[in-house]
Amino acid sequence: MRPTEARIDLAALRSNYELARELAPSSKLVAIVKADAYGHGVHRCVEALSSLAAPPDALGVAMLEEAVEIRQTGSQLPVVLLEGVFEPAEIELLSQYRLEPVIASPEQVAWFLESPPSRPLRVWLKLDSGMHRLGLDTASFARAQAALSRSASVSELVLMTHFANADRIDGTDTQQQIETFDDAVEGRSDSQSLANSAALLTRPRTHRDWVRPGIMMYGVDPLERSVDASTRLQPVQRLVSRISSTREVPPGESIGYGSRFTTSERTRVGVVPVGYADGYPREAPDGTPVLVSGQRSRIIGLPSMDRITVDLTGIPDTAVGSPVELWGPNLPATEVARACGTIAYTLVTGVGGRVPRVYDE
Ligand SMILES: *Cc1c(COP(=O)(O)O)cnc(C)c1O
Repeated sequence: MRPTEARIDLAALRSNYELARELAPSSKLVAIVKADAYGHGVHRCVEALSSLAAPPDALGVAMLEEAVEIRQTGSQLPVVLLEGVFEPAEIELLSQYRLEPVIASPEQVAWFLESPPSRPLRVWLKLDSGMHRLGLDTASFARAQAALSRSASVSELVLMTHFANADRIDGTDTQQQIETFDDAVEGRSDSQSLANSAALLTRPRTHRDWVRPGIMMYGVDPLERSVDASTRLQPVQRLVSRISSTREVPPGESIGYGSRFTTSERTRVGVVPVGYADGYPREAPDGTPVLVSGQRSRIIGLPSMDRITVDLTGIPDTAVGSPVELWGPNLPATEVARACGTIAYTLVTGVGGRVPRVYDE
């Protein structure tokens, strides 16, 4: 059997979740589990969080299909659809599955009011406070607030927004977004929700009634520069494999597709059976770090679909079968991501469907 697997540390997940609770003790918490719990396996992650003394107050997913999957696992927790509905026909399914839509566009407001769900739901109304992706502008937000407050199909309204740059230390944009939001909700008694992981970690002022942590629960630090709290996060995902073959290559020879890497000395090349079809980025340049038997090595040659090649020259005691960590507790996904010109979110969510998830309780 191919030795490549994603080890998922559920104790680390619980610990990161508890940290989010500890940092925002007065807020309710929407545990964001979209995209198969950021690639960690939604079923087991929801189960692990639900069994805690203080389970999430709600779960957050991107869309109806993901929410239905959660209901099929038997979870009865409230589920928020962060993208809301894509067509009016989905609204009745919200009632059926007891799902809470985000309403973030004039079309979504109209659909909800014209074909309201048959039982009242909590509705999340989103303001565009400056990210200009989703959310209503200030004037439409005020009108929608008024209309939805009068609707018999709305049991509760949560006013929300989302930050474009909460990961930055120099947070003037975020400050501006908070002010825009506060102006738009002034005088309203509805509950409020602003904070993603980065804001939860750094800006207590944004905690309000509901926080929405995602990436931090999976132990990835979203901040440009770590703070004390974020150094307490424990990586949940560990992408591992083993060396499957080795060879000695003389100087002046090229390795792999496109002959990207050429040896400058006699080089011991190790093959690791993980490739871009498994979510290992094809963008990884020569020199991207990788751990072999706990020692730092580097990628040499272009990653291919099913395997990568690593430099074992001068790394003692490595042979076929030596353990490899692509990212995880001993090699932060953020460091690998930086080398590849991406963010750790894409690495952990991108692990391919053919990689078995193996859970450690
Ligand atoms: C994905 C998402 C989050 C979580 O963001 P993280 O950066 O992973 O914490 C929060 N709110 C909304 C609306 C989202 O789409």
